[in-house]
Amino acid sequence: MSDTKILLNDNELPTSWYNIQADMPNLPKPPLSPFTKEEVKPEDLAAIFPPELIKQEVSQERWIEIPEEVQEIYKLWRPSPLYRARRLEKALDTPARIFFKYEGASPAGSHKLNTAVPQAYFNREGGITRLTTETGAGQWGIALSQACKFLNMICKVYMVNVSYYQKPYRRTMMNIFGSDCVPSPTNETKSGRQILEKDPDSVGSLGIAISEAVEVAAGLDDTNYALGSVLNHVCLHQSVIGQEAKMQMAKAGYYPDVVVACCGGGSNFAGIAFPFARDKIVENSPVRLLAAEPTACPTLTKGDLAYDYGDVTGLTPLLHMYTLGSEFVPPGIHSGGLRYHGESPLVSQLLHDGIIDACALTQNYIFDKAALFASSEGIIPAPESAHAIGAAVEEALDAREAGEARTILFNLSGHGHLDLPSYESYMDGKLQDLKLPEESLEKSLAGLPNIK
Ligand SMILES: *Cc1c(COP(=O)(O)O)cnc(C)c1O
Repeated sequence: MSDTKILLNDNELPTSWYNIQADMPNLPKPPLSPFTKEEVKPEDLAAIFPPELIKQEVSQERWIEIPEEVQEIYKLWRPSPLYRARRLEKALDTPARIFFKYEGASPAGSHKLNTAVPQAYFNREGGITRLTTETGAGQWGIALSQACKFLNMICKVYMVNVSYYQKPYRRTMMNIFGSDCVPSPTNETKSGRQILEKDPDSVGSLGIAISEAVEVAAGLDDTNYALGSVLNHVCLHQSVIGQEAKMQMAKAGYYPDVVVACCGGGSNFAGIAFPFARDKIVENSPVRLLAAEPTACPTLTKGDLAYDYGDVTGLTPLLHMYTLGSEFVPPGIHSGGLRYHGESPLVSQLLHDGIIDACALTQNYIFDKAALFASSEGIIPAPESAHAIGAAVEEALDAREAGEARTILFNLSGHGHLDLPSYESYMDGKLQDLKLPEESLEKSLAGLPNIK
């Protein structure tokens, strides 16, 4: 067997998702209703989510079976490959062993399809024929469009206006899979019309797009809403990544000293890290779990652990999470998928309890390491994933200093084929290391909802 590319057979595909809620020493505080500030009841969520996903959201069962139909679709790209980055090791002249799990080999080009498929499936099983969602840079919109196509459902995507015009290829991909993708804000919803009345030229935001998608889903019986990160059931579905990686590392004959992933809403980090977090919690494994985020949107390293809204208008339940405040507008870095003010409550609780670590990296640094990685391994990473590469490279250089044969595993969450304009800016020396707007962060944190 090749020790550069470590593959699993179809019959080694995990048949259950791993639910870390079964093993956490402390569960996150429960979501609160934005209207009453009381604990959200499962039936409150029934207007936009199907019963099975609501069940998964609060389940404390350790293993949750993956339906056969979902497994069959997973087999289009899963088990995904694990690589040993020998050429990168050489370029860094490090005694460290660097492995990476490659999620960019999915038809959507990222890990997001791992949750898009089961979300579409459980909605269809719940009698739903149509899903709405928002998308910023477009990766989630593409993944959900494909999943809906696979499962014969209709998909409507509210894409942040500025991205809709800046990233036309992403929109084309959604259209190929039959989705109706519109620039948000639209005239079709109350939330959209409210915004347009005040600002007819609004460039939109994720917060506005979420409000539109949720409003439509809540108002129609045959339509639900789907979210691509943050929520517990999303982290659950992504656990196939870490379960496979564990088997592949065992085949390679190593166990990681450190597991790294980039962190936006937390789902690909959860996917690769949670199965290893179980080793840490249950078996006292010394493995380090490291979440890498941008210095321009440092939710885990500079945010507060508090109740906050998921959107700008305050329509979503309040989640207990690390947050920069829902009014915080992150600088326009090229890693759109990491520009979110909040964080998965599960990831947040584990950080608070010292089970995982976090670090923040600057834009020029991560593009530097992405280019080095591409030159060594041939894969052009998504700018989001480049944060994982940056943190893994720091570990490898640290291991060189210490003369230590450390084993590093990182998740390559997606490829960057639709991010080439960002690479062009980097190569032209036009990328700025956008500074965190400290004042606006302070103001945003001071405005967090006052809940004990
Ligand atoms: C969306 C996205 C992310 C960030 O989302 P998480 O939920 O934090 O994983 C990271 N990488 C890629 C390629 C993405 O598309």
